[in-house]
Amino acid sequence: MTSRILIIEDEADLAATMAYSLGREGFAASTADTGARALELVHAGGPVPDLILLDLNLPDMSGTEVCRRLRAESRTRSVPIVMVTARSDEIDRVVGFEVGADDYVTKPFSMRELLLRIRAVLRRAHPGEAPATPSERATATAQPGEQVLDVGRLKIDPGAHKVWVDGKQVHLTALEFRLLQTFVERQGRVQTRDHLLSDVWGIDAEITTRTVDTHVKRLRDKLGAAGTYIETIRGVGYRFQLEPDES
Ligand code: CA
Repeated sequence: MTSRILIIEDEADLAATMAYSLGREGFAASTADTGARALELVHAGGPVPDLILLDLNLPDMSGTEVCRRLRAESRTRSVPIVMVTARSDEIDRVVGFEVGADDYVTKPFSMRELLLRIRAVLRRAHPGEAPATPSERATATAQPGEQVLDVGRLKIDPGAHKVWVDGKQVHLTALEFRLLQTFVERQGRVQTRDHLLSDVWGIDAEITTRTVDTHVKRLRDKLGAAGTYIETIRGVGYRFQLEPDES
């Protein structure tokens, strides 16, 4: 099946280059040069794109606003969104996750990098469907069919990116899933906000650690009864632990 990708980008040269590269890789790419035109396109009733590449700086409205509006509509609520940002947008690209983006690429990026991100996001959205090249299979961190982990009240399927609390499925964003996975892999060890930022977000810690707190809070809320596994270590960071410390 051909994946449809909508490119929302006002730099005409860049949009054309991306559309060309994606087309050559077998994707069906379309473009919109303003937020309004993009929203018109996806809300017009035609086929919903399989993935949206969203420039953060658009002439008529911010990419985060476009993202919010896409997430507010049931048709487009779960369409994967990859934010495209300039280097000076470091804070914004963090904010991008807060409005529900699935991933981001930073300008300037290579088409190879863009394609890797797109395939990874599509694979997460549809586990087991998107074809992977041998090199991608080698670099992928989790594959469908990988063992399901039992962690206290939690059940985690790393391949399918699914989580259950007391047998009930909890829907996490890609970022929340990565955050939980990082916590579980490092059970019992304190994780500083700086480390979480660089390991989970993949960005320099100099931006803002408040973002970590926002996401940890949301993850805790979603995990309900299992949320207490994530302890706050005052002034330092967090620790995932099944049994609370008796000290
Ligand atoms: Ca732009």
